[in-house]
Amino acid sequence: MTLLTIITPSNPILRRKARPISDPRAPEIQRLIDDMIVTMREAPGVGLAAPQVAEPLRLAVIEYAPDAEDLPEDAELPEPKLYVIINPEIAARSEEMVDGAEGCLSIPGYAGTVSRHKAVTIKALNRQGRPIKIKADGWLARIFQHEIDHLDGVLFIDKASKTWKTKDEEDVEAE
Ligand code: ZN
Repeated sequence: MTLLTIITPSNPILRRKARPISDPRAPEIQRLIDDMIVTMREAPGVGLAAPQVAEPLRLAVIEYAPDAEDLPEDAELPEPKLYVIINPEIAARSEEMVDGAEGCLSIPGYAGTVSRHKAVTIKALNRQGRPIKIKADGWLARIFQHEIDHLDGVLFIDKASKTWKTKDEEDVEAE
């Protein structure tokens, strides 16, 4: 597996609309998925979209577990769950919007407040090419919306009501 280079807005691929993947099971797509997973973990980030590694394809990987401090005290620590979404679409959105702080692996050192739908339902193909439907709420819903924006060349700074430089001790999860 290969660590991929994460591009920044100086590379125009990040601003391009990505194209659908016709054969998710093609060896080059399977290799790209594996490389994106290791690249996301190494970064570290909670999500990575293919355009961020200079591949203008409709594919993203997400790995996220709620922070222990956000859970009730007696809750079991959840295992991070890995999602591979190919040609994803937002099939349903909550009317309710929530503000939250976001970072992006392609815009290191910055964070911003972005309003997102509180809950979304995603339809996509998994890495075997089978249709999947995912209901996401809260931070997971935010990550899906951030990653799907990447597939249309949209960055969080386009939507942020406020952006700021992050300090070393500030913990904003990057996507
Ligand atoms: Zn991002």
